[in-house]
Amino acid sequence: MIGHPGGIKSSLEARCNRILVDMEGALTARDRVGIQDFVLLDSYTSESAFLDNLRKRFHENLIYTYIGTLLVSVNPYKELGIYTKKQMDIYMGVNFFELPPHIYALSDNAYRTMLMENNNHVILISGESGAGKTESSKKILQFYAVSCPRTSLLDNVRDRLLLSNPVLEAFGNAKTLKNDNSSRFGKYMDIQFDFQGEAVGGHILSYLLEKSRVVHQNHGERNFHIFYQLVEGAEDGLLRWLGLERNCQLYRYLVQGQCAKVSSISDKTDWRTVRKALSVIEISEHLFGVIASVLHLGNIRFEADARGYATLNSSTEMHWLSKLLGVHVQVLREGLTHRKIEARAEEVLSPLTAEHAIYARDALAKAIYGRTFAWLVNKTNESLANKDSTRKTVIGLLDIYGFEVFHVNSFEQFCINYCNEKLQQLFIQLTLKSEQEEYEAEGIEWEAVPFFNNKIICDLVEEKHRGIISVLDEECLRPGEASDLTFLEKLEEKLGGHPHFVTHKLADQKTRKTLERGDFRLLHYAGEVTYCVVGFLDKNNDLLYKNIKDVSLGFLQVATQFKSSLAGLTEILMSKEPWYVRCLKPNNSKQSGCFDDVLVRHQVKYLGLMEHLRVRRAGFAYRRRFEVFLQRYKALCPDTWPHWKGKPADGVQRLVIHLGYRPDEYKMGRTKIFIRHPRTLFATEDAFEMCK
Ligand code: ADP
Ligand code: MG
Repeated sequence: MIGHPGGIKSSLEARCNRILVDMEGALTARDRVGIQDFVLLDSYTSESAFLDNLRKRFHENLIYTYIGTLLVSVNPYKELGIYTKKQMDIYMGVNFFELPPHIYALSDNAYRTMLMENNNHVILISGESGAGKTESSKKILQFYAVSCPRTSLLDNVRDRLLLSNPVLEAFGNAKTLKNDNSSRFGKYMDIQFDFQGEAVGGHILSYLLEKSRVVHQNHGERNFHIFYQLVEGAEDGLLRWLGLERNCQLYRYLVQGQCAKVSSISDKTDWRTVRKALSVIEISEHLFGVIASVLHLGNIRFEADARGYATLNSSTEMHWLSKLLGVHVQVLREGLTHRKIEARAEEVLSPLTAEHAIYARDALAKAIYGRTFAWLVNKTNESLANKDSTRKTVIGLLDIYGFEVFHVNSFEQFCINYCNEKLQQLFIQLTLKSEQEEYEAEGIEWEAVPFFNNKIICDLVEEKHRGIISVLDEECLRPGEASDLTFLEKLEEKLGGHPHFVTHKLADQKTRKTLERGDFRLLHYAGEVTYCVVGFLDKNNDLLYKNIKDVSLGFLQVATQFKSSLAGLTEILMSKEPWYVRCLKPNNSKQSGCFDDVLVRHQVKYLGLMEHLRVRRAGFAYRRRFEVFLQRYKALCPDTWPHWKGKPADGVQRLVIHLGYRPDEYKMGRTKIFIRHPRTLFATEDAFEMCK
């Protein structure tokens, strides 16, 4: 037991005893509920023991387990009643390991560290599609909005913070085969706190919305929720004003997946929530006009005339489109059936074939929706903005689309999975790599833990001149000559020798599984994905014919833009102190109570959880710069109080000897003290609280 200066000793002993009793209690219950921190697992190198523990806990409805300060979460696929206000209160201000693991404990610790150290934090939530990332991020936001102190009259900001969620979900989420509420955009949100710890504002960055869903959905999938909410839920008057009927089956853009109705989703109820949220955020109903126009656009039909050119007779749809978009019918008609070409400094209208007209129509629908979404994010940000200029600290929340493998994978999956590679790379850099480098730099004896570094796959995608994105951009710059297949040929030529890239020519020798001619396969850190190249060039170009662009806006080279926005995101994340939530999916059938060993084992493996555990286990839970440590705790030792005149390291040494730290509990680095167990630091922190 740690020895402590006089008066505080008894309280500390009581505290430590409590921890010990808890631990003992935990030990007896251990067979049933497993261990709440993998670091305490006896056979910590065994993947099976790891899985056993996870499974045991899962079946006891204990979905959270720590690896040190990292939180592992297994999607329960049922309501557990563990997110009440009472639970929030229990977790407020309590040290990490004193209560069963919870997302609130992590939220609260990030929050208190932010206040204590006056710096910025970020909670990185990762896991594959359907693993529970979005739910986690909502729980965290609720925790801050509901339980942080309220010192001013900013209730409004908290409401808006909370309500921004249903709004962005309505417009940016959709039912996929993996998840009935799948995020089809990446979201990074800053929650801003003032010096008193009150949530006073927020800011959202969104990443690459999957616009193609507006015009096409695979079997068993839906368009974005908002369309169905509008058709099912809107009041009769509003529907009439928009020229819509209350029947999703009437709209081509809503029925391609043949599942407009989903039992787990109540579009009517959700509509009411969204509607209310929009009014709190102060977004006008005109927004629905734009959404309705997309539905009308989808119903426009073209016929081919004798020469194959598109003719258009959908006069009802054209009427509503013109009304809702405020564009003259003639301009729309021309835009949908002709393209402008520049010839000898003159603009000439050239008729489109029926096939091209459909392309133009869909491109316009996607562009309208994409811009509406961007506008919505901007509006939400205006509404969340905190206008006073005092310094704020922030906690960022990153909830981005998870790794995805479908039967057919296209450009969208390529971008999503690339994004996940980048996040994994960041995780590696911040934990496995930097942790080990820090021990080395600090001169602390250390046995290296080997891990798979996915940098090689990130490079394969993003390297200048020879990465996949570069090759794609090059092909996009050769209109008329290049095609999806020439893109594939170039890839083969440049990347054929890469260990993580496979085409049909190389399939046999590299993965012993054959490939179609138009496919390529990437061996991602999380598994193999076969991509079909059809549509890569178009989607990357995101082209609108020029005269339609006059009505709307064209964008350039999507993948490159995405790459640079991810680089920006990485910078934002790197500048903050990270916390991790790793979400696991227990089964592929969205079922409660079912734990698929093979599936979970695979996730544990690719998320690098075993390596993380090994690094944690061998390492030190806490580290503080000598100056910071001394400054905080100097009052606990007569030699260091009120000032320590010597070197900070010597002061820290004197201090911890006085506090009775055992030699195996800590190590002195070059600039920092490393503390092995959280309880050592908690005891010191308690002593500090007592003598304040
Ligand atoms: P992701 O964002 O990782 O794709 P979601 O967070 O949308 O996944 O979760 C998918 C579904 O799983 C949710 O709609 C919900 O039904 C269920 N779910 C996820 N996390 C929880 C949780 N903590 N408690 C109860 N159900 C959950
Ligand atoms: Mg999600």
